[in-house]
Amino acid sequence: MRLLIKNGTVVNSDNKFISDVLCVDNKIVEIANSIELSDDDSEIIDASGCFVFPGGIDPHVHMNLPSKAGFSSDDFNSGSKAALWGGTTSIIDFVTPHRSQFLDEAIHQRLTEASNCNTSFSFHISPVKWHDDMDGQIKQCIDLGFTSFKVYTAYKDTIGISDDDLLKVMKSVGKHGGILLIHCELGDAIDSNKSELTKQGKRSPFYHPLSRPSYTESQAVKNAIELAYEACCPIYIVHVSTQESLSYIRDAQKRGQLVYAETCPQYLLFDDSRYNGKFIDTASFVMSPPLRKKEDIDALWVALADGTIHTVGTDHCPFSIKQKAEGIDDFRKIPNGVGGVEHRLQLLFTYGVVSGKITINKFVELTSTNAARIFGLYPKKGIIDVGADADIVIWNPEEKSMISSTTHHQNTDINIYDGMEIVGSPEYVILDGKLIKEGNSFSNELSVGRLLKRK
Ligand SMILES: [Zn+2]
Repeated sequence: MRLLIKNGTVVNSDNKFISDVLCVDNKIVEIANSIELSDDDSEIIDASGCFVFPGGIDPHVHMNLPSKAGFSSDDFNSGSKAALWGGTTSIIDFVTPHRSQFLDEAIHQRLTEASNCNTSFSFHISPVKWHDDMDGQIKQCIDLGFTSFKVYTAYKDTIGISDDDLLKVMKSVGKHGGILLIHCELGDAIDSNKSELTKQGKRSPFYHPLSRPSYTESQAVKNAIELAYEACCPIYIVHVSTQESLSYIRDAQKRGQLVYAETCPQYLLFDDSRYNGKFIDTASFVMSPPLRKKEDIDALWVALADGTIHTVGTDHCPFSIKQKAEGIDDFRKIPNGVGGVEHRLQLLFTYGVVSGKITINKFVELTSTNAARIFGLYPKKGIIDVGADADIVIWNPEEKSMISSTTHHQNTDINIYDGMEIVGSPEYVILDGKLIKEGNSFSNELSVGRLLKRK
């Protein structure tokens, strides 16, 4: 199968040039000017005036996530379709075992749940408790191609981990050459804030951010960086939302410590004024960490541009209005999470590139290249180059549209980006050399995505 992309502007994290790109089967085999093919059965796309990006990699999604209000409303099938629609060809989700479950058993269970995933995919693995044989289990995961792990310092009643166990996990992951993702929030402080507020009858979504003030994230970030230094473990801090967290991350990076950082579109585009208003409008924005202040937003954009933050993931975890309404009398019962896997590229292009906050190369770095580098997929993914996987987005930079919960592909009746104007669109999406999306329709029967083995 041959697919030839003509006259597009190829954009990588470090270059930009007009060229033709030839894909054979699932690989990019040639990048040159004026590639001509003699046979008729090749597919040819004219990409004049368009950008040719490496397929998006979203390193932080939660499809089919169990919560007290039921599963997050996108399963792997619907969520991955929405991802493809928006130009994301690979996702990394999570394996979260029960406290007594073996990691490999939990991986097998999750693989079954992901058997209808349409993108390429992998998982970060969550040790939720230290067991005597955990070191061996962590090594086994790495041998199987799952090289990244995730711990939570919040949610102590379910999946959160103690500081003692955290240090043990870090030492093990560091020793075996993996990387540890950390959800940094001070779980105990948050739990006591929550019970104090609700005791005072403060139960609306307005109080959600007050239960998780800025310092509960920043202090946890500081602690995690110190522990990781002691343990010699590379870490990746998910969904960074505060200015102060950034200052700790920046200091560690200056010292030469391997500390990577991620933020999400929601923290770049909204402030905490979204928690003033009617229940469902405000409950839609209940996520953890919560939305912050204008100064934090400004600091996040600076950190994207200067390289302190490496990736923009979505933390995609949508719920329906009905599910959010579980917490109508108590914000603690509102399932935490928002959707966005479909809109990540368009939001970052519109509000980052078009608005002049980041360059087009930085856009590629944040949406694809750095996730590939950090999580062991580079240079197969994250770059348009000979020998790379043919995961390609052909981007029309002129197309204008508006986000709407009535037209999106995510399986939820909530869209926090509803009504936002967008510039730029993934005109063609190619996964493993196959044209998946063309204009406003899926062009092929979607097939099951590949499990990615990472190094
Ligand atoms: Zn998450």
